[in-house]
Amino acid sequence: MDLKTPVRLAGFAFKVQSRKLERLNIQTIGDLLFHVPFRYEDNSLVSSINLAQPGETLSVQGTVIATKYIPTRGRISIQKVTIDDGTGEIDCTFFNQIYILKTIKQGNLLSVSGRVDQFGSKKGIVVKEYEVLSSESAETTHTGRLVPVYPETHGLSSKWIRNRIKTILKEIKVADYLPKEIKDKEKLMDLNEAVQLIHFPNSLTEAEEARQRLAFDELLTAQLRSKVRKIAWDEEKKTSAFEIESHKKNIQTFWEKLPFELTRAQRKAVDEIILDLGKTIPMNRLLEGDVGSGKTVVAAIAMYLAHLNGFQSAFMAPTEILALQHHKTISDLLLPLGVKVSLRTGSTKQIANPKSQDGITDNANIIVGTHALLQKAVNFETLGLIVIDEQQRFGVEQRAILRKKGNNPHVLTMTATPIPRTVLLTLYGDLKVSFLDEMPKGRKLVKTWLVPEEKRESAYEWIKKQIKETAAQVFIVCPFIEESETLNTIKAAKVEYERLKENVFPKLKLGLLHGKLKSKEKDQVLKDFKDKKFDILVSTPVVEVGIDVPDATIMMIEASERFGLASLHQMRGRVGRSEKESYCLLFTDSSNPNARNRLKNLEKMHSGPELAELDLRLRGPGDMFGTMQHGLPGLKIATFSNFPLIEKTRLEAEDIIENLNKYPSLKQKVEELKNEKNISPD
Ligand code: ADP
Ligand code: MG
Repeated sequence: MDLKTPVRLAGFAFKVQSRKLERLNIQTIGDLLFHVPFRYEDNSLVSSINLAQPGETLSVQGTVIATKYIPTRGRISIQKVTIDDGTGEIDCTFFNQIYILKTIKQGNLLSVSGRVDQFGSKKGIVVKEYEVLSSESAETTHTGRLVPVYPETHGLSSKWIRNRIKTILKEIKVADYLPKEIKDKEKLMDLNEAVQLIHFPNSLTEAEEARQRLAFDELLTAQLRSKVRKIAWDEEKKTSAFEIESHKKNIQTFWEKLPFELTRAQRKAVDEIILDLGKTIPMNRLLEGDVGSGKTVVAAIAMYLAHLNGFQSAFMAPTEILALQHHKTISDLLLPLGVKVSLRTGSTKQIANPKSQDGITDNANIIVGTHALLQKAVNFETLGLIVIDEQQRFGVEQRAILRKKGNNPHVLTMTATPIPRTVLLTLYGDLKVSFLDEMPKGRKLVKTWLVPEEKRESAYEWIKKQIKETAAQVFIVCPFIEESETLNTIKAAKVEYERLKENVFPKLKLGLLHGKLKSKEKDQVLKDFKDKKFDILVSTPVVEVGIDVPDATIMMIEASERFGLASLHQMRGRVGRSEKESYCLLFTDSSNPNARNRLKNLEKMHSGPELAELDLRLRGPGDMFGTMQHGLPGLKIATFSNFPLIEKTRLEAEDIIENLNKYPSLKQKVEELKNEKNISPD
């Protein structure tokens, strides 16, 4: 058995549970060992039975002298196991664990952890963890020590995971690939020790030191992977450079025919892309910009240039609706210039392009589509450029499949997700990035205010006035559906909806939108709002995802301290979609000055990635993945807010790549990264 052994081959228990393990993303023994605890239960206080005091949480150990099953009237049953350690007796109480009396027998040596209680004249302990020991000197796993608690979804308990890891750690030594020099320099413990101690530390300090070592490895690996990808891309993948100079005129004409002027940011992105396309190394660029920043037209220029060079382009979008929309936009832009645009999705391929069938090479100049583009039967004559919209919705492998349909085509990926710069550099160091940090002209920045609670009433009056005078439509966002006791200061959308309807805006029409509605109902509510059947839409944060209501100009957000800045920014992006002045009003119950200052950043900052980066600095990464919605590869141990460690590992990775011959064990690690299926450019 080694780290690469699939868990299902590691013994009977694993075989039975391997499906569940896979759902935790655990496929190999290595994955399991690196499934690290997110906290530790402190069962380390060990006592003799006579000294155990009511109220204490501790571990005791003794010989089972009696077991008893006590049915009760309700649904609860009690199992009682009495143990004796020579200093006294104690009753160990279990609830609803009938099977326990099958595993625990008189004469067994039992160790338990839990809370000590006095039941009449007798001492008892309500058991949280227990284990039967083979001898008094046997090492404990679940009691009498710091006990690891794991992310345990899908019916695999921490206890189960803990037992398996313990067994494996006895058999396996994890080879350390980091040379001693680096470990000394960075003050890191040995890898095998770190893996042992992250699961079974003797103290929290030890656990923390182990975590530091593993966090270092995780970020170093991410950095090395980025570097390896970039090298592989640059070295092997020569393509024929596009001819640029002779087509500048055409681009100019296209540019001039647009019904609008490109923004400075768009022009800069176009320049950067054109420069890439004129090189023999294929382009590998990410275009990042908020929704509405005008990414499509930038992509269209690149595709036009590909066409002028005699190459086809494929434009892949994550959903059918988006593909249809892009097909229309791109056709409108490029059809007048004699560019043939076809559409290929799961359901519309025949309708859209009756002559081209699966298995037949598509001869349009630009093919817009969904995942359907990936099908084996779909071929291209001369695929020279790939554009991928909302790239985080596609896996690296899907991207690779599409690339293989051409001969080292250029790749432009696009995203509206505000990815912080730090994350970009760490995970996507191989990509060049263009930012559209500016909205098209005419669209104004959304005026944003953090409104003090005492101005709430005047804010409502102001909203009424806006609705009356400018026919404004208003979003009011509240964090949750049901009033929750633990979060009782939060305006629950339903309650708030009733309150607003009856007490605040009795003369206006209000709608309610929340995540528990069926998607048909949601669509209907949105359609009604778009059709102006109501003035105000009260909603949970579902509005964060793609809703386009051009006449909505006011966004009011309750309990805004509960959201990350990037999320709030995405929400306010729902207004400000026309030339009308738009507003975002932030409310918060928090009197914490830090929370208020954090929110005030939205008054002056209007760049998604910058706000996301600030989120990382101020709140840590917890919120980030909520914002990103769709799977950026996450970190399991390190965090993206650990800026010093990110920087340290980046420098270390650079040094390692330059001096690979000095470090044979790292050379092997880099080789492994090169061979990872999902990272090689094809
Ligand atoms: P996204 O970046 O979200 O993909 P789109 O490319 O869909 O944005 O553009 C949003 C809208 O803005 C489209 O209707 C597009 O025609 C328009 N648009 C793009 N660039 C400009 C510009 N420079 N000036 C005015 N409108 C623009
Ligand atoms: Mg778009």
